[in-house]
Amino acid sequence: MQFCDDCGSMMRTAGDEMACTSCGYTEPKDEQLAERFVSTAEQTTDDVIESTEDANFEGKPTADDVTCEACGHGEAWYTIKQTGSADEPPTRFFKCTECGNRWREYN
Ligand SMILES: [Zn+2]
Ligand SMILES: [Zn+2]
Repeated sequence: MQFCDDCGSMMRTAGDEMACTSCGYTEPKDEQLAERFVSTAEQTTDDVIESTEDANFEGKPTADDVTCEACGHGEAWYTIKQTGSADEPPTRFFKCTECGNRWREYN
């Protein structure tokens, strides 16, 4: 028998997790599963902007037709890179001139 860390109600098995019957709080069934969950999360590489790691945006042209998702600023430095094959449109990489947030845009 396991009890919710959050509200103290009874937990029940729900797939790979234990779920609270009262507040909906969930946690991994045991430590082995917890470790696997963590390592899976660490391997998530979605949205990693690999090719801009060393990019120096300062001094690059700025675009004012953009909006920074992080701070709402309307100006960002940008560089254009051919990331796919030659017949695909190039990708624009942005760096917010206000907060430094980076993102990319597919045309
Ligand atoms: Zn609960
Ligand atoms: Zn910003």
